Amino acid sequence: MRALTELKKECFERIGVKICYCCYSKNPKQLIIHHLSYTKNSIIYNKFENNDDGRLKYYANLLDEIKINITNFLIFCINCHNKLEKLLRLSYNEVFNLAKNDKLSTNLIRAYNETCLKRGMKILENPNDEIILPFFILKLKKEIEEDFITAKNLKQFKEFSMISILYYVNRIKEFSFDDLAFIGVLSDIPSNYLTPFPDHVQAAKLLESVREIKKDEKIKYIHIYNQPFVKPPEMTRKDEINVSKYISIIEKELKDLFPFDIDTIFGKPKQTVSEYFYD
Ligand SMILES: [Zn+2]
Ligand SMILES: [Zn+2]
Repeated sequence: MRALTELKKECFERIGVKICYCCYSKNPKQLIIHHLSYTKNSIIYNKFENNDDGRLKYYANLLDEIKINITNFLIFCINCHNKLEKLLRLSYNEVFNLAKNDKLSTNLIRAYNETCLKRGMKILENPNDEIILPFFILKLKKEIEEDFITAKNLKQFKEFSMISILYYVNRIKEFSFDDLAFIGVLSDIPSNYLTPFPDHVQAAKLLESVREIKKDEKIKYIHIYNQPFVKPPEMTRKDEINVSKYISIIEKELKDLFPFDIDTIFGKPKQTVSEYFYD
């Protein structure tokens, strides 16, 4: 049915995105259009007959809606869209608990929140109040997410993201120690831990030389080049920061976020970065 295919294609072309908002799947047969909010003029899929004629009417109406308000739509693959619609039917507490137990991807939470925002529903707060990732990695991730929203196509998204990554990587040493610090919580006093010590415990042991450390304290630490390989921010010098370690952490963190091979980004520029820092 050619008319239907053409109509669907035009809807996607108007929105300008051909990739799933959550998992970055690009299979065109799997992609569908999600309404962030419904107005009284919105058309709902199951109001139309489940046959080609019904679908044709549905997409014709949808195209009109897209022309009026393009920002009301996001693209998902069928799989992610099902997950999102299921979440939207759960109570706030049920969604909160799923997020707390790490059952939801960051992108799915983002999609859920964007929909809630437009529908006047309560937005999911950060269920895990621990900031584990240093601030600069969070900033980079946010920037890449924004690139993704702004980019018109995958090629442009790659270019944007590459610029963001290189920008941040080249500036690691300019960040404040607080921005670079990882945080861990002590479940016991440092002397009760056995070797090998986790990073935050190692840092706590160094801090013990200057003050008392209690159970449940949040300990910040910076990755450094020499033993013991981590230090509390207040004891670290800028020239001790282990830049390569931070680069490998960024690589690891961003692997989930990217729909393409991140090594191609870090391949060549990595050497430039090393030269820049180790001369
Ligand atoms: Zn998906
Ligand atoms: Zn939907």
